[in-house]
Amino acid sequence: MDDIKGIKDTEGTEKLRFCRLCDIFKEIPRDINAYAQRLYDLLDAKDKAGDELIKERLEICSACDRNSQGTCLACGCYCIVRSMKKTVHCPHKKW
Ligand code: SF4
Repeated sequence: MDDIKGIKDTEGTEKLRFCRLCDIFKEIPRDINAYAQRLYDLLDAKDKAGDELIKERLEICSACDRNSQGTCLACGCYCIVRSMKKTVHCPHKKW
């Protein structure tokens, strides 16, 4: 665990962050698109970002240097999962 770096909070304390949705499902998705669709289907309609906003966000993620094969290295989330909820934003305020 010593080689795993977390994110420093505003007081400089390093903390590991985990995706709460991943924790709920306790699974490593093999098909991220199917996994994302399942999660999206579980969201309340009012919380869904919608196709256009998701597409817009993922275009920004695709050009971001913190995107590692679809995983955001800033927060540890799958970019597609992070983009799906209307009120969730990029941890670096890019969207
Ligand atoms: S969520 Fe933000 S920081 Fe993470 S990959 Fe997308 S644009 Fe980059």
